[in-house]
Amino acid sequence: MSKEHILVIEDEEDILALVHYNLSREGFRVSCAQSGEEGLKAARELAPDLIVLDLMLPGMDGLEVCRVLKREGATSQIPLVMLTARGEEHDIVTGLELGADDYVTKPFSPKVLLSRLKAVLRRRERESAPEESEPVRIGEITIHPGRNEVLVDGEPVDLTFTEFRVLQLLAGRPGWVFTRYQIVNAVRGDDYCVTDRAVDVQIVGLRKKLGPAGKYIETVRGVGYRFKDL
Ligand code: CA
Repeated sequence: MSKEHILVIEDEEDILALVHYNLSREGFRVSCAQSGEEGLKAARELAPDLIVLDLMLPGMDGLEVCRVLKREGATSQIPLVMLTARGEEHDIVTGLELGADDYVTKPFSPKVLLSRLKAVLRRRERESAPEESEPVRIGEITIHPGRNEVLVDGEPVDLTFTEFRVLQLLAGRPGWVFTRYQIVNAVRGDDYCVTDRAVDVQIVGLRKKLGPAGKYIETVRGVGYRFKDL
């Protein structure tokens, strides 16, 4: 099996060893860095397929590392998964808005981390071969991008254009957490009154109109929303 190269940036040796062991066992090539500066250098030199980045690092912290990685052309496209502590919702939101793909909260089981990393790698692969106008089917929901049409169990659902855009955004990346700001940004220009709070209102409306399928739109407390990865 030809597996991807993963760079892990984490200062805590126990966690680093645990992650290294579990990723290697899955066949991934693993490189490690124990500080932000070292991590940046490794990311530039190794061009890994994915970066696991702890946010709590001595010296240059994880968010700063994320900011630099996402700013530089060579590293900006590398998927990045943050390791965070409980109660760091604010940092999670900032990291996601800087371009991080996902996060795993400590303490985590190796199994959970692995499945999240694999999901990110899978999504990246899927995105590199997009078929924009094809209808998207998720559970009982069918989305026709070209026709701005949504069906639930074959029955058309009457959505506003903004609701449609929000659904299309979330459902386009199942399992992915979007912050309110990211949702506002994605639908901006279509409805001048879209604000953070308006996003919550859109979600409420969307869930209601989707009926039982509305359960797929999940609230991620303190962070934002995501479409359930079915
Ligand atoms: Ca740490």
